[in-house]
Amino acid sequence: MTKSLSDLTREEIRQQLVELVGTDQVCLDEDELRAASVDRFKKYMAVNGIYDGPVPAAIVSATSTADVARLMRFANEHRVNVVPRTGATATEGGLETIVEDTVVLDGSRMNRILQIDTTNMMATAQCGVRLAALEDAARSHGLTTGHSPQSKPLAQMGGLTATRSIGQLSTLYGGIEDMVVGLEAVFPDGTICRTKNIPRRAAGPDIRHIVIGNEGALCFITEVTVKLYRYMPENTEYRGFLVDDMDVGISIIREVVTRGFRPAVCRLYSEEDAYQNFPALGRSRCVLIFICEGPKAITAVTAAEIDMVVSRHANQELGRSLIKEWFKNLNWGLDKILAERQTMLDEHWLGYTTEVSANWSDVGDIYKAVMHRIRTEYPYASDLTLLGAHSSHSYQTGTNLYFVYNYQVNCEPREEITKYHIPLNAIIVEETLEHGGSMVHHHGIGKYRTEWTEREHGSAYYMLRKLKEAFDPRDVMNKGTIFKVRED
Ligand SMILES: Cc1cc2nc3c(=O)[nH]c(=O)nc-3n(C[C@H](O)[C@H](O)[C@H](O)COP(=O)(O)OP(=O)(O)OC[C@H]3O[C@@H](n4cnc5c(N)ncnc54)[C@H](O)[C@@H]3O)c2cc1C
Repeated sequence: MTKSLSDLTREEIRQQLVELVGTDQVCLDEDELRAASVDRFKKYMAVNGIYDGPVPAAIVSATSTADVARLMRFANEHRVNVVPRTGATATEGGLETIVEDTVVLDGSRMNRILQIDTTNMMATAQCGVRLAALEDAARSHGLTTGHSPQSKPLAQMGGLTATRSIGQLSTLYGGIEDMVVGLEAVFPDGTICRTKNIPRRAAGPDIRHIVIGNEGALCFITEVTVKLYRYMPENTEYRGFLVDDMDVGISIIREVVTRGFRPAVCRLYSEEDAYQNFPALGRSRCVLIFICEGPKAITAVTAAEIDMVVSRHANQELGRSLIKEWFKNLNWGLDKILAERQTMLDEHWLGYTTEVSANWSDVGDIYKAVMHRIRTEYPYASDLTLLGAHSSHSYQTGTNLYFVYNYQVNCEPREEITKYHIPLNAIIVEETLEHGGSMVHHHGIGKYRTEWTEREHGSAYYMLRKLKEAFDPRDVMNKGTIFKVRED
C-alpha cells in the first residue's frame, strides 16, 4: 500500500468530485469500488472476495474531453492518484489502485463513434467505444479495422491504445501502433493535445508514441483515429498442420515471413498448448496455423507459398474447417469470463499467461530456458496442469512467445498470487531478459513487471523516465505502473 500524497481527505475528494461533475458521474458504491481496486492479475483472489490493497475513493465517469480535463486538473492540483480505465480487461495490474484514496477515471461512457471516413479510410472513436462495436460499424461499410485481440468484445479504444495492444491478424495489419492515425489525450495539468490525422509526416519525432502504450501513467486518451481496410472474408484461406516441435514450427513461420509473405495469422502452439486448444489431436505434436486475408490473388499466392514451405518439412495437414472453427471461437466475451469465474470457484483451478518477444535467433533458447527452469527449479511444478507457449505475432526480425501456465491451487486463496502467479511470471521475464528478448510483447508492464523496467530499457530508460518527469511532475498518474513507486 502507498500513502496518499493528497492535501484532501477521502471525504473531501468525494465532495469535490461531486461538485465538479455531479452525482450521476461519481460512483461510491462499496462493492464497485472494491472490484475496481484490482484487475485480472488478481482474478483468483477477487473471485474469492479477497481485496488486499486500498479501495479507491471513487470511480468517476467522464462524458467528455472537457470532463477529463477538469478532473485531471483537480487531481493534479491536489495530488490525488488517478487510474484511467475503459474496458477493464487489463491483465498486468495496470488497474490496481495501490495508493490510498485513488480516483478511478472511467472513460467507458465516452462511447460514440465520431466518424467512419470511407474516402480517407479511417475511423474516429471516443475512448469508451468497444472495439467490437467499431469493427461492426466498419464492416457495415465493407471495411475492417484489422484489429482482433481476443478481448475484442470487451476492450475499448482508450485501453487498447494505452496498452499497445495487438490482435490475432497482426502479421498483416500490425499492432495498434501501426493502426493509429492520430489521437487526442489529456495531460495531468489539463492540457488537451490532438495530433493530426495524416498518413505520415517528418515534423520531428512521432509524438503519437508518447501516448500509445502510456498505460495511463502519462495521460488520459480521449479519442483515437484508426486506419480502415477492405473486408473480404470470401477470400480467406485457412491452413493448419501438425509439426514435430517448436523449432520446426518457428523455422517455417520465419521462412514464410522473411520471404516477404504476410499471412494475417501465423500461430504455433507447443505440444501442451496445442492439446488445450485441440484436445482431439493429442499432446504429442505442435500445431501450426496460418490464415490469409485480403484480395483473392494475394491470399491465393500466400497460401501457395505456405503449402510449399510446409511440404519441405513433411508435416501433416489438418482440416481447414477445423481451423476456421477454432478461429471463430477464439475471442473472449462476458460468457467466457463468467465461465472462468465458476471454474475458479468450483475447481480451484486457473490459468495465466506472460507474453514476451525476441529475435529469431533467440526465441528457441528462451522457450527452452523457461520450460527447463520452471520444470526443474520451481518448487510447485507438480501443481501445474499445463505449461506451454505459443508464438502468435511474427515480424521480419522475430516473433513473440506467449507462455501459458495453468495450475491447481493447493493453498489458501490469499496465497495463490505469491505461490504461483508472481514467481512463474518472474521466471519468464528473467529468462527472456537474460536471453536478449523483451519482457513484454503486448499486455503492458502494469504493476508486476516494473521491477525490470530499467533493465528492459537499458540506457534508453533515460528517455522514458524524462517523459514521466515532464508530463506528470506531481506523480499523480497511475502510480506504480510502468515506473516503480518513487519515494518522495
Ligand atoms: C480474455 C482476454 C484476452 C486478451 N487478449 C488480448 C490480445 O489478444 N491482445 C492484447 O493486446 N491484449 C489482450 N488482452 C489484454 C487487454 O484486453 C488489453 O490490454 C486491452 O488493450 C485493454 O483494454 P481495456 O479497454 O480493457 O483497458 P483497461 O483494462 O481499462 O486498461 C488497461 C490499461 O490502460 C490504461 N487505460 C485504460 N484506458 C485508458 C485511457 N483512456 N487513457 C489512458 N490510459 C488508459 C489503464 O490504466 C490500464 O493501465 C486480453 C485480456 C483478456 C482478459
